[in-house]
Amino acid sequence: VEVLTARSLAEVRRALEASLDAHADLLPADRSARVVLKPNLNANMNALTGNTTDLRVIAALLGLLRDRGYADITVAEGTNSGYYRNQIGVISRLTVDKLARRFGAKVVDCNHAGPDERVKVAFDDGSGSTVTARAAAVCANADLLVNLPKLKTHFEAGMSVCLKNMMGTLVGQESKKHTHRSLAANILRLNDVVAPHLHVVDGLVAMEGLGPTRGTPVAMDLLVVGRDPFLVDLACARLARFDHRAVTTLALAEDQGRIGPGDHAYVDSLGLEERSHPFAPPKAGPIASFIHHPRRQKYFLAVRNTRFFTWLASTEWFGALLFKTGLRQDVFDKHEMRLEALHWEEELCKRCGACARFCPLGLDPVEQRRSEAEECLHCLYCYMICPNEAVRFEGDKGFLEEQMRQYDALIRRLARQEDSP
Ligand code: SF4
Ligand code: SF4
Repeated sequence: VEVLTARSLAEVRRALEASLDAHADLLPADRSARVVLKPNLNANMNALTGNTTDLRVIAALLGLLRDRGYADITVAEGTNSGYYRNQIGVISRLTVDKLARRFGAKVVDCNHAGPDERVKVAFDDGSGSTVTARAAAVCANADLLVNLPKLKTHFEAGMSVCLKNMMGTLVGQESKKHTHRSLAANILRLNDVVAPHLHVVDGLVAMEGLGPTRGTPVAMDLLVVGRDPFLVDLACARLARFDHRAVTTLALAEDQGRIGPGDHAYVDSLGLEERSHPFAPPKAGPIASFIHHPRRQKYFLAVRNTRFFTWLASTEWFGALLFKTGLRQDVFDKHEMRLEALHWEEELCKRCGACARFCPLGLDPVEQRRSEAEECLHCLYCYMICPNEAVRFEGDKGFLEEQMRQYDALIRRLARQEDSP
């Protein structure tokens, strides 16, 4: 397991280039091999909130793999059930499709994998029997599958890193709902079927507190790379200063004998204390904690999976109630964003360089003065990170309004955190 430091696209690229060299034996000799990147695009939240995989990581890997001659690259992910149910295009809202096109890569939404594009996974149904779920074959059968999870907390699982990120390979709500019957056990079962060759954890901007979608972003400026998801997740727990037993997948893996004293000794030897940050735990409110208690959750799931509840949850007033009580973390806003242009306001700019450092294409909005559609992804990293609000949004913010309400100040603070010694 390696912990690498990076703060810009160029630094991410340099760090990952050295890492790919170190893991060269994993790279298929055949340049027409099927290469798949599996980011975490669980919700439509900009990566700078700490929720989704940073476009800088995806862009760096797409570029490096292209430079090495790989012709068949796919970015594959299936967003969480709520966005899927509401038919919200998370991949396009996060501009991952535009980024992939730029590198000639395909994009696959795992939620929509057809009947011939699935592999079976035997899940524990919570009562000792098994139930069949399905994962996207594009991930399970890749010649090189690179897992790109986000470093973040998770109120049900403790943390969501390598092991948990495989949930996004499941096909549709029907498969995802089976996972929750015995969450940690089924995540481990899924990892036995869909087993990435390499893991690159995006800890550029991580999430602490009430993750996965209501926590606080924290600038860690790091990537964690390794082949073994148990060791990488153990290292990530150490970086967050979490007891690994608080991460349900790691606790179960240890109980099953998949993690032993030698693994802890190895992670000890990495000397991660200096790089670590004491993450606030993912403590849910009283109602969510009561309902999600392992002893009661099966009753909640039985109700949640009924057609009546699905209908009720799709109404605006009940959705708002679920969000207020913390039973739902996401806001499924169908109002699309319409960005006409981003303008640079010279008199507000302090030339701090944050916008260029965070740009996934390495563009410098200050030099460009105005983002031109043909070269800019419209990912909004420069707009959201600028501590002086010198990048102005022109258009209709749509779903982004709510994200800005929750995260505007927290994201702009990241640039200042990075500038402090
Ligand atoms: S982040 Fe804002 S203040 Fe800093 S260089 Fe960019 S536009 Fe100027
Ligand atoms: S200039 Fe701004 S909006 Fe355009 S790709 Fe770069 S960070 Fe994203």
